[in-house]
Amino acid sequence: MSVTLRICGAARTVTGSCYLFESPAGRLLVDCGLFQGSKTLKALNYSAFPFRPSEISNVLLTHAHIDHSGLLPKLAREGFRGRILATRGTIDLCSFMLPDAGSIQETEVATLNRRNAARGRAEVSPIYTQADAVATLDAFQAVEYETWFQVMPGVRARYWNAGHLLGSASIELEFANEGISGQPLLVLASGDIGPDAKLFQPEPKAPTGFDYVISESTYGDEDRPAVTREARRQHLATEVRDAHAAGGALLIPAFAVERTQELIVDLVDLMDRGEVPAAPIFLDSPLAIRATQVFRQHAKSLGADVDVDRLLSSPHLRSTETVEESKSIAKFVGFHVIVAASGMCDAGRIRHHLKRWLWHSNATVLFTGFQAQGTLGRFLVDGVKAVRIQGEAIKVAARIRRVDEYSGHADGPELARWIASRRPIQRGVFLVHGEEPALAGLSERIAERTVPAAKVFTPILDDIYELTTTAPTPIDGTERRRRLAAEAVVALDWHNDMSKLILDINERIEAAADDRSRGVLIRKLRRALEAEQ
Ligand SMILES: [Zn+2]
Repeated sequence: MSVTLRICGAARTVTGSCYLFESPAGRLLVDCGLFQGSKTLKALNYSAFPFRPSEISNVLLTHAHIDHSGLLPKLAREGFRGRILATRGTIDLCSFMLPDAGSIQETEVATLNRRNAARGRAEVSPIYTQADAVATLDAFQAVEYETWFQVMPGVRARYWNAGHLLGSASIELEFANEGISGQPLLVLASGDIGPDAKLFQPEPKAPTGFDYVISESTYGDEDRPAVTREARRQHLATEVRDAHAAGGALLIPAFAVERTQELIVDLVDLMDRGEVPAAPIFLDSPLAIRATQVFRQHAKSLGADVDVDRLLSSPHLRSTETVEESKSIAKFVGFHVIVAASGMCDAGRIRHHLKRWLWHSNATVLFTGFQAQGTLGRFLVDGVKAVRIQGEAIKVAARIRRVDEYSGHADGPELARWIASRRPIQRGVFLVHGEEPALAGLSERIAERTVPAAKVFTPILDDIYELTTTAPTPIDGTERRRRLAAEAVVALDWHNDMSKLILDINERIEAAADDRSRGVLIRKLRRALEAEQ
């Protein structure tokens, strides 16, 4: 008798969600997400899985976001032949999000290979291609919310609406005879949990009474003021009016699916009512355009109290699907709105628009969601004075603003309440999918108040626990099998330090009084470098 849990991703980070359960009946994964953020994390996407894909019989997918689903095509490419179990909504979204992710991999690698060729470095191949992603879609099987089904002999699962995204779920797992005195062992994996007030989603749901709860912690250290939909609309209106007064473009780095549609619904509505100046809204993301079509189709079932279909087909909204259409946006001067992916600015068309506008003081960049450590978005939100985009140093003069109320995530108190509502929790709570301050914040909120502090665990990548013992028991020998040193996940890696150093040097040299003092500075730096050899 044994059930083990291996933390294969989203440990002390918010990406790469992946949990491996091994029981006598076989091996299953909850999620198989792409790592995003620092180069160290992204390198994990290219390295081998810490298990044999051919030995995985089922993947239980919480939702379609790429940091939860984005390595499924790699899994299939490397020998996985089992089922991917997901809700109908998740399958609909994955049917275009995964092929899109594949085409991003191909484009990024093509760019990288051009650079590698110029530097005399070897070619790399994409993690997977669009064709791999399309092939993976055959493995998907739909499951219903709130209905038990057999995953493999002795293992059942049930999905609960997590209120985070169309189709999103928390997943309940039951391992027969593996719990206290022959009872079933009950585990709940939260997936991503939605906030209480969301335009398109109900409040998150799940039952009570578990041996273990694995909970996300993304905003564990934040306590957002309770927000109504009207207050949120007014906040957006203020930001749009200010951006209009500044006179340049308003760039909105967009999370393509759902948040973009929620934003556009409010934006168009504000323009229609004359509460903000009317202007073209360029939806410059093929993925977001496709997602917008899906939301128009699902408009009636979304339960929103506005006419979603009408607002998403507004003449203010201009979808720029092709690269040529996208490039033509650059001709616009004056106030206009550009909604482009990705939300954290680490890929996608938003980078071209940032290159065009960041150095203009009349431009505005409005962030609408969580910015992971190591992403361009995080640097901008943290207030850096210059950034590097595609190797070019660009001064940041634009106004950098945030609206957090469109978040698809619960905040600290909401997460703590969600965990508390799952009690009794017999053996332990694993806090995952959060950066250090968020994990500490959520841990503080639940330790002793909800469960004894000794039962709260914040695992690191590749930790393995035995779950059938009275408390989760770390399994020895894990050290040898770790893909990363523990501190590597947490720290910003050297690539980021390097970028910052180059920017600082440029800034100091430009700021120097004259060419003579520039020469002195350069000689000093040269001497420091040579002293290191
Ligand atoms: Zn998510």
